[in-house]
Amino acid sequence: MAGGEKKQSLSPKEIIHHKFGVKASYRIEQVHVSSRSSCLYRCHLQLPEFSVVSNVFKRKKDAELSAAELALEKLGIHPQDDDDITVEQAWDDMVERIKYIFSDEFLSSGHHPLGSHLRATLLRDGERHGSVPLSIIAAFDAKINSGCKVINPSVDQDPILAMSYVMKAAAKLTDYIVVSPHVASLRRKNPYPPAIVEALDTHGESIKVEAVYIQCATSGEEVVDPITLDISSGRYYLDIIAEKLGLKDGSQLIISRTFDKTAAGYECRVYSAIPKLNPSDKSSKAYGKRPVDEEEQSSHFKNPWNAKASSACGQDIHGDAIVAALGYSWRSHHLVEHDDVTLKSFYRICCGMSPNGIYKFSRQALIAATLPFSFTSKSNWRGPLPREMLSIFCRQQQLAEPVFTISTSPVKPLSETLRSFKKLKDSESNDSNNQCVNEYAGSDDSFNHYNSKDEEELPVLESGYRCGVKILSKSLQDLVLDCSPRNFYEKESHAIQNAALKALTWFGSLFDDLDADPEQPRCYTKGELNWMFTRNVMIKGKFPSSKRYEEPAYDESKTMDMDRKPKRVQTIPNGSLVSISYSVSVEVEADFWGRTCKCLRELIESNEEIEFEVGVGSMNPHLESVVTQMSVGQYACFITNMPAEGLVLADANDTARTRSLLSKLAAGLEYNVHLLGVKGPTEKRVESVFFKPPLSKQRVEYAVKLIKESSAASTLVDFGCGSGSLLESLLEVPTSLQTIVGVDISEKALARAAKMVDSKLNKGACNLKTIRLYDGSILEFDSRLHGIDIATCLEVIEHMEEDEAFQFGKTVLTLFRPKLLIVSTPNYEYNKILHKSSLYHSKDKSMSQRSKFRNHEHKFEWTRAQFNHWASKLAKSHNYSVEFSGVGGSGKVDPGFASQIAVFKRKSFTEVKKVSTQPYKVIWEWTRAQGDKKN
Ligand code: SAH
Ligand code: MG
Repeated sequence: MAGGEKKQSLSPKEIIHHKFGVKASYRIEQVHVSSRSSCLYRCHLQLPEFSVVSNVFKRKKDAELSAAELALEKLGIHPQDDDDITVEQAWDDMVERIKYIFSDEFLSSGHHPLGSHLRATLLRDGERHGSVPLSIIAAFDAKINSGCKVINPSVDQDPILAMSYVMKAAAKLTDYIVVSPHVASLRRKNPYPPAIVEALDTHGESIKVEAVYIQCATSGEEVVDPITLDISSGRYYLDIIAEKLGLKDGSQLIISRTFDKTAAGYECRVYSAIPKLNPSDKSSKAYGKRPVDEEEQSSHFKNPWNAKASSACGQDIHGDAIVAALGYSWRSHHLVEHDDVTLKSFYRICCGMSPNGIYKFSRQALIAATLPFSFTSKSNWRGPLPREMLSIFCRQQQLAEPVFTISTSPVKPLSETLRSFKKLKDSESNDSNNQCVNEYAGSDDSFNHYNSKDEEELPVLESGYRCGVKILSKSLQDLVLDCSPRNFYEKESHAIQNAALKALTWFGSLFDDLDADPEQPRCYTKGELNWMFTRNVMIKGKFPSSKRYEEPAYDESKTMDMDRKPKRVQTIPNGSLVSISYSVSVEVEADFWGRTCKCLRELIESNEEIEFEVGVGSMNPHLESVVTQMSVGQYACFITNMPAEGLVLADANDTARTRSLLSKLAAGLEYNVHLLGVKGPTEKRVESVFFKPPLSKQRVEYAVKLIKESSAASTLVDFGCGSGSLLESLLEVPTSLQTIVGVDISEKALARAAKMVDSKLNKGACNLKTIRLYDGSILEFDSRLHGIDIATCLEVIEHMEEDEAFQFGKTVLTLFRPKLLIVSTPNYEYNKILHKSSLYHSKDKSMSQRSKFRNHEHKFEWTRAQFNHWASKLAKSHNYSVEFSGVGGSGKVDPGFASQIAVFKRKSFTEVKKVSTQPYKVIWEWTRAQGDKKN
C-alpha cells in the first residue's frame, strides 16, 4: 500500500480496540425475518463496564460498526475530533525546534543527548567543526521526531525520509543554519561565543565497545564479524563508527531505530552509510521525492540490500552495517553509555525477531523447538500462548495490536452435524472403513490434520466460535494481514489462539523462506483460510532461515538402543505429551588426506527435561520423528544436517569455537535423546470423541450409582484416585458416605485432586465429614483403611505390571476387605474399534504396527476372558462374589464394553488379624467438625 500522505483517523472499531483490546467482545446474532428469505444481523458489543446492541443490518460488518459507534457515543468519544496538529504547524514547529537546538541556550543547558552530540562536534577541527549529522537530529530529538511523523507517519520505517524533512525545515533558517546537502549535516552560521565553547568538557574517557560488522557480500549471504570500536577520549563516536564503515565522518551515517535492549538495558542500533543512488539515476536528488514503489526505489540504491541488518532492526538497510549499543544519555554530558554487542547477542536478536524465534526462546530450545502449527488445547500447549506471542511480535515489528473478531454461528447440535454427515457418507460409499463417524467430531485442527487425505469429505463443525485476526501497521493503520480461518471451535479461546497461531505461522514464513513471493497469498492448510495480505516493507527479514530439514541420517554405529527399522513406524500417537531429555552438539569429522581425524564436537544445546505434544510440530521434525519411534526409557542418537549458521551461533556457548567448527567440512548436528515418559491424552480424547458422555464420565457415573445404592456405606477409598474425578462426583451428590479417601502415587495428580476438592467443598449437598488424600502405593496395606465399606479402583490396574495387579487384588481382599469393590480396566478387544479411528493413525496408511494399547502408560490391557480370570479367581479365594459389567458400547455383542467393570461383594465378614502399618502419607485433609484443612 502506498504510504498515505494524508493522515488517517481511526475507525470506531479501532478506537474501541485501542481502548479495550480483548476486553471488547463482539457477538453477532442472526435475526431471521420470516417474510424474507435472507437473514439480518445484529451485533452485541460487550465492554468491561457496559454493553450495547446494534440495530439490525444486512451485513455483519455494518452491525459491528454500528455497535462500536454506539459504544463510543456512550463513552463520550467523537472519532471525528482530531486534536493532532496540522502538517503546516508541524513544519513550523520543526523550524522553531531546529533554531532552538542551535541556540547558545541549548548548548549550555541541560543534559539532552543531542546537546552531547553538539558538544562532540564542536571538538572537531576544520570544516566539520560544529556540523551535526542530520541523522542524529532526526533520531535523537523527540520533538523533531513527532513533527516528522505528522508530516508522514511512515518515517518510522525510513530514517532517510526523516532526515530529508529536517533538512527541508532547516533550509528555512537561511540566516541561521548552514545546510550542506553533500555532507548531510547542519551547522550554525555564526560561531558560538568562545566562552561557551571553551567551557565544554573535553575529558571524556576512552572506551572499547564490542560491536558486530555485517558485510554485504557481492554474492550470497552477508558475513558477520565481531569488531571493537575504540573510542578514544575527545573523539566523536559517530566518526569512529563511520570510519569503520569506510566513510569520512558521522554525517554520512544513517541510524536505525532502536530495536533491542542489551542485558544492561542499552539500546542497539544499526549504523550504515546513507545509500548512494545508482549513477544511472542522476535525475533524482538524494533527498528529493522518493519513488513510491519500493521495488523501484531499492533498485536506485547502489549498495545491495543487507538482509541480516534489515531483519535485525526492521528497517531497510543497504550496504555494510555496524550493530552497536552506545550513545549519550540524559545523565551526563560526555559519557558514552555502552554495552557490548557480541556475535551471539546479535544472532539472538535476529532470532528473536521472528515468530519461530520468539517461540524457540520461550522454550529455551533454539534448535529443538519450532513454532507449532496447531493449537489443540491449553493443557497441551507449552510456552507462551499464541496470542501473547503475536502481541510480542507485533510490538517488535511496529505493528498495531492484533484485532481479533469473534463471531458465532447459529448452534446446530453436534450430533445433528454428525448424523447428516454419516448419512452422506453411507449413501456415497459402502466402504467398511467408515464405521467410525464420530472420529470426525472434533473441532481441533489436529483432528482434521490427520484426515487431510479426505479433506473434501470432512464435515466442518458448523457451530461454535470462529475467529479472525487483522493486523494493521502502527503508524498508518494500513492493513498488513487479514486472516480469517474458516474453522469453528467449540471454545472461544481456542478460536482466538488458533487465529493468532495462523497469523504467526504466516509471518514466520516470511522469515524462514524468502524465496516465496510475499505478495502471493499462500495457504498453509488448504481451503481453510481466507488470506489477505498487503506487503509491508518491514517484514522481510531473512534470518533465521533454517535450511530445509532433510530426513535424519541414522548413524547406525551410534544408535544405541534403537531398533533399526527400514521404514519409520510411529509408535507414539499424535496428541501424546512426551517428555524427553536431549543434547545437541555440532560435530565435525575432519577428513585430511584420506585419513579420518578425531571427531571435533561442541555441545550447543541441552535440556534435562522438556515436554511437548506430538503431532503439532512443536519440535523440529527430526527430533519428533525419532522420538515418536522410541519407547520410554530408550536412548537414541542421530545426526542431521546443519540448520542456519545464525541459529547455531545464537545457541552456542563458545561462539568463537563453534564458528570455527562450522567453517570446517562435513559439519552435522548430533542429537542424543532419552525418552523419559509419555502421557497419552489420546485415550481420553478418543474416549470423549467416541462416547457421549465421555467414557471416563460414564465410569464415574456407573460407580456413583452403585455407591448410592449401597445405602449403609459410610466410608469409601478410591484407589489410584488420580486427579479425583470420582471424588469430585461424590462431593456433588448426597450419599450415605461420611468419609472419602483418595490414594495415589502421583504427587501431581494428588495436587490436582486437592485443588479440585478444595474448590468444590462448600458447594455440594453432601453429608461428608472427612475427606483425605494419601500419597502411597496401593500395593501396600495401610491399617487406617482396614474395614472400609466401599473401595473403588477405576482404570488403575493396567498401570501396573500384571503380577502387581494380582498382588493388588490380593491385598485389597485380604487386608482392606471392603464390603464392595469396584474395579474397571480397558477391554483390549474393544481397541480394534477405537483403532479404526484416524486419531490413532499416523498418516502412513501402510503402517503395520501401531500402538497396541490405548495409552502409552498402560502396562497391559486385558481381554474379557483375562479380566474374568483375574477377578473370578480373586473372588473365589477371598470369599467374595463377583459380577461383570461395563460402560461404552454393549455387553451383549462382540467385542463387549469398551471399559470392563468387576463388582466384588463380600460374602461374609471374617475377622482378620489386624496388622498395624501406616505407609501412606496424608497430604491433604478436611474434616467438617473443625472445618479446617491441612496440606
Ligand atoms: N482413577 C482415576 C485415575 C486413573 S489413572 C480415574 O479414573 O480418573 C491411573 C492412576 O493410578 C494414576 O493417577 C496413577 O498415579 C495411579 N497409580 C498407578 N499405580 C499406582 C500405585 N501402585 N499406587 C497408587 N496409585 C497408582
Ligand atoms: Mg488408564
